[in-house]
Amino acid sequence: MPEGDTVWLTARRLHTALAGKLLTRCDLRVPRLATADLTGRTLLDVTPRGKHLLTRVEGGLTLHSHLQMDGAWRLYAPDERWSGGPGHQIRAILATTTHTAVGYRLPVLDLIRTIDEPSVVGHLGPDLLGPDWDAEEAVRRVCADPARPLGEALLDQRNLAGIGNVYKCELAFMARVTPWLPVGDLPPGVPERLVSTAHRLLEANKERFDRRTILTTDRPDRKLYVYGRKNQPCYRCGTPVRRKEETGRDRISYWCPGCQSGPAPSN
Ligand SMILES: [Zn+2]
Repeated sequence: MPEGDTVWLTARRLHTALAGKLLTRCDLRVPRLATADLTGRTLLDVTPRGKHLLTRVEGGLTLHSHLQMDGAWRLYAPDERWSGGPGHQIRAILATTTHTAVGYRLPVLDLIRTIDEPSVVGHLGPDLLGPDWDAEEAVRRVCADPARPLGEALLDQRNLAGIGNVYKCELAFMARVTPWLPVGDLPPGVPERLVSTAHRLLEANKERFDRRTILTTDRPDRKLYVYGRKNQPCYRCGTPVRRKEETGRDRISYWCPGCQSGPAPSN
């Protein structure tokens, strides 16, 4: 699942391959961009902002994309077979003479003026992997509504940008509270620790697609504490890990009822 670290690494790879190069092909397969053509323009840079990707091109234009649940940008050499999914899932193709970037399953794809970028990313809170990361401000925003469940507060990109369901679950586990605990009920010092742990985890994972929150071991079978481990024993206390999906909201929670305190759904 793409979270801030995946988007950061995706942006860096696209930037390294494409920045400063002339676009020799542009194919944007969403109806309202059907006539847009960036061919002949130089791609200037690819910048991540939270979970958003901003691909800036010459002439003051920005191709804005968001990966949400399972979108991806893949890079291919000119003669390489495209392997990111069936053709009907392709939303964007940008090519130079040396690389082709293919955007699969992008739920968000807009072409905007670069000066209008704040309209799509201006609402974001401090970016966990951004140059303007501000831990204190992130803590202030996460705690601003004491009644709000922790999981919701962590996922809200206006509080801090870059956390998705995986990190939400892992952070709640590491703080020993459930994602449904109101942030106002967190013990003193815990919000600060949560935010600094979030920053540390995303930094530790930004160079690799193979995400790991258990940083104390390299074991390939022990990467995440609870996410994706339904019914498997908690590494800390042995209780089977539980899973709850809130339908229609893209909210998936895994937690250990044995060592995470706070409210939890009954089924
Ligand atoms: Zn446990």
